[in-house]
Amino acid sequence: MKRIKGWAAVSDFDGTITLRDVGDHILLHYGFADRKTIEASYSLRVRVEDFMRRAFSRVGLSEKAIADFVIKKVKARPGFAAFAPFCAGAGVPLEIVSGGVDLYAGPFLRKHGVKVRSFFGRARLVGGGIKITYPFLRRSELSSFKASRVLRFRKAGYKVVFFGDGPNDLKAAKLAHKVYAAGRLYRLCRERGIPVSRLTDFEKAARFLAAELGLPGRR
Ligand SMILES: [Mg+2]
Repeated sequence: MKRIKGWAAVSDFDGTITLRDVGDHILLHYGFADRKTIEASYSLRVRVEDFMRRAFSRVGLSEKAIADFVIKKVKARPGFAAFAPFCAGAGVPLEIVSGGVDLYAGPFLRKHGVKVRSFFGRARLVGGGIKITYPFLRRSELSSFKASRVLRFRKAGYKVVFFGDGPNDLKAAKLAHKVYAAGRLYRLCRERGIPVSRLTDFEKAARFLAAELGLPGRR
């Protein structure tokens, strides 16, 4: 039998680490998409990466405008800023895997002083829009890529805690040992009988991991 090394954590970004999906928030706030279009993008049949590429190709905003928006408007889920250093101290590798883009994730993570391994789309301003590429995807879909990150830790001997909120997180959630989910993912897990805890804040997950790892001083 494979020896368990401990726990690893894999997290989605939009709507998971942030309280609202930042991409949707920007598209709606500046009128580049309406609610119906956003809602349709959450079908299990839609690839988030295709939606993002299409929607942002029309976004005529500067890098600074996006950074300012993120710093003023985007709220972190409670406990996240402390969760990353907790993981580092507890020897829990933490990764962020996202269909979102560096253009808004960068300013957010810098604001909260969080530096962890992460996978985001690469956004570049071209003409009157934003061109998004996903260098880490190559031929795979985002949802399969997220699942592959969970699987990679499992194969290395870790138990994996996964955090997510969207339909494109479902494949990864199925492979995790512990799932914290918000929004649509919570509902999908419940409907499919996948054991799931509601993601309200990251403090709860830190307490869970501390108990699993036998770390003192947390309740
Ligand atoms: Mg999300």
